[in-house]
Amino acid sequence: MIHGPCGSHYNYSSCHNSDGKCTRQYPRDFVSETITGSDSYPLYRRRSPAEGGFTAVVKGHQVDNRWVVPYCPLLTKAFNARINVEYCHSVRSIKYVCKYINKGTDAAMFGIRQEGSVDEIQDFHAGRVIISSTEGPWHIFSFPIYERFPAIVIFLRIQQWMWLRDEFSKTLLYTDVPSYYVWTKKNTWARRKCGANVEGYPGVKKDATLGRVFTVPPSRQECFYLRLILHEVSGPTSYNNLRTVNGVLCDTFRKACLRLGLLEDDSQWDATMAEGALLKMPSALRHLLTTILQVCEPSDPKSLWDKYKDFLSEDILREAQLLCPTMALTFNDEIYNRALIIIENLPKGRLRCGPCIHQAGYRINGGTGKTFETKLLLAEIRRHGEVALTVASSGIAAILLPGGRTVHSTFKLPLDLIKTETAVCGIAKLIVWDERTVSPKTALEAVNRSL
Ligand SMILES: [Zn+2]
Repeated sequence: MIHGPCGSHYNYSSCHNSDGKCTRQYPRDFVSETITGSDSYPLYRRRSPAEGGFTAVVKGHQVDNRWVVPYCPLLTKAFNARINVEYCHSVRSIKYVCKYINKGTDAAMFGIRQEGSVDEIQDFHAGRVIISSTEGPWHIFSFPIYERFPAIVIFLRIQQWMWLRDEFSKTLLYTDVPSYYVWTKKNTWARRKCGANVEGYPGVKKDATLGRVFTVPPSRQECFYLRLILHEVSGPTSYNNLRTVNGVLCDTFRKACLRLGLLEDDSQWDATMAEGALLKMPSALRHLLTTILQVCEPSDPKSLWDKYKDFLSEDILREAQLLCPTMALTFNDEIYNRALIIIENLPKGRLRCGPCIHQAGYRINGGTGKTFETKLLLAEIRRHGEVALTVASSGIAAILLPGGRTVHSTFKLPLDLIKTETAVCGIAKLIVWDERTVSPKTALEAVNRSL
């Protein structure tokens, strides 16, 4: 597995760019020991001839370890092919491995044919995903194409859980239930018959099945807080019981969360970002952070950024590395700054916590100052005891405005504006209408008619 050899004195330059540099970065440097850095690309050991490294003559040229393409001898022999193998040493690489093994085969076909002679059947065959020779026998021998372990159970009704009445069930959290019980066709719970014995509870078995609770966005307020409590309180008997903390019945799940001390710090958002960093591509992670900043009011957004900024800007670094392969780029302020600018410019990305991010000391594109001016106008009108309304087309945009609600809710607009051309609604002194451009024309006309 030897690259080239390439370079001016080897007269072989298909891998060279206009600067005369090898785009694959060969020859590499000699390295005494393999170095695994913080990102996923190790520097492999490449021993020099002085250190006992081998040399060989390839295409008439003397080469050494600097020219070796990373490989695995077993795979090379098993498949009788040149296979470039890179060592994934970090759990952070897993999301990329999953992406590549699921993306299918790269394939391109081309041909020359007479105008108008389209063979749809042939096009259909050619357009199908091409199955490689190794995948072919796998299918022919009916080996499993996928498997999933352990089983995941999502059960919807919390009441079902509350029906459990035996002593052991009172020790369980909502998510633990499917490990010990099955939901039968008779709509009752039955203890699992397989699995490991549970100490202290004769007859109780624990299976590998995991329970999961549906994801609930923080904007769903009470649902979200209920979900939080479900991960803290074992064996409740009723919703009231879930809301009771230290003998005090709270009137909302949010208050119960506060009493339980679940909302005092940003640990929820930290855990959310930690899970996202493992599973999501950087762009999705940036959306996640934006949502957390906008909707969840973390107390210390800058620490979230500081902790996850590498994950949030991984793709930007990768792009920069591809553009300048010889510069051995690593994370730096310029990379982070680009990530911040992308975050700032995300759709509906008027960050509540913008100033906190600005404190990070990076240059960042400022907004137009619209929100600030809006708040001034609203405060002035309301100071005189008059009514000022803030509306936006979407709930997300509306909550960014002081007292903001959606257009439909505030003006009691008919749901089907297209069919009611002469709709009217009730009115205030000042109307701030954010994202006017995405509202239907008939909505504006209805407001205008009312005015
Ligand atoms: Zn080269």
